[in-house]
Amino acid sequence: FLEINNLFKSYGEGDSKQEVLKGLSFKVRKGEFCVLLGPSGSGKSTLLNIIGGIDTADSGYISINSDKLEDMNEKSLTLYRRKHLGYVFQLYNLIPNLNVKENIEVGAYLSDSPLDIDDLIKTLGLWEHRYKLPNQLSGGQQQRTSIGRAIVKNPDILLCDEPTGALDFNTSKEILKLIEDVNKKYGNTIVMVTHNAAISAMADHTIKLLDGNIRENITNKEKISADKLEW
Ligand code: ATP
Ligand code: MG
Repeated sequence: FLEINNLFKSYGEGDSKQEVLKGLSFKVRKGEFCVLLGPSGSGKSTLLNIIGGIDTADSGYISINSDKLEDMNEKSLTLYRRKHLGYVFQLYNLIPNLNVKENIEVGAYLSDSPLDIDDLIKTLGLWEHRYKLPNQLSGGQQQRTSIGRAIVKNPDILLCDEPTGALDFNTSKEILKLIEDVNKKYGNTIVMVTHNAAISAMADHTIKLLDGNIRENITNKEKISADKLEW
């Protein structure tokens, strides 16, 4: 479904050239909850940005359903980002003068088949907060809202870069549970960067990066449902 093939990426030139990704390859199954682990600086965000079409690789390719991102023209790339991808960041980046419901509705903009917004708000546990502004919410509630904004267009792929990085332990657990619930309920493929190795117990698939390469690539066969086991 999602294939990362022999990806190389470096920043800078000459003496200051830094190789960040050194020939990464792996595949993610449709509907899978995939977790990317690795120390700071190992290239996790870089990889996620390349999958998200925000950054480009020096060589290698990403393909989605056998379509290579690099072969897409500007128009189909925009369409891919707008319709098929959702992004959740460590910081929530909500629009400060819009309430919870309106922030989520922003994500449905230009989408042909958004999820039922009231139903989604209930799934997110935000029903009683739906008319609050971001500055009236806790960090966890803000992150729930930003997950809502990313998921409302029902994207094929949800990319999450340390979605719990700014939250305390218990709130992090709640958010992870929510992402797991979203994955089960709506069937989106999830690729999530985290520093927390304990999270891989919840995941179908765990990839550990070290120094621009894959150190471990583990499928949790006990957890992954049989219908997801195909590539
Ligand atoms: P963290 O866990 O701290 O978020 P990471 O695994 O996400 O780390 P990246 O953000 O992918 O790491 O960065 C990998 C390396 O690439 C770092 O050394 C970083 O300085 C460098 N890097 C990332 N983006 C750029 C850029 N736009 N220009 C130059 N160097 C960059
Ligand atoms: Mg990062």
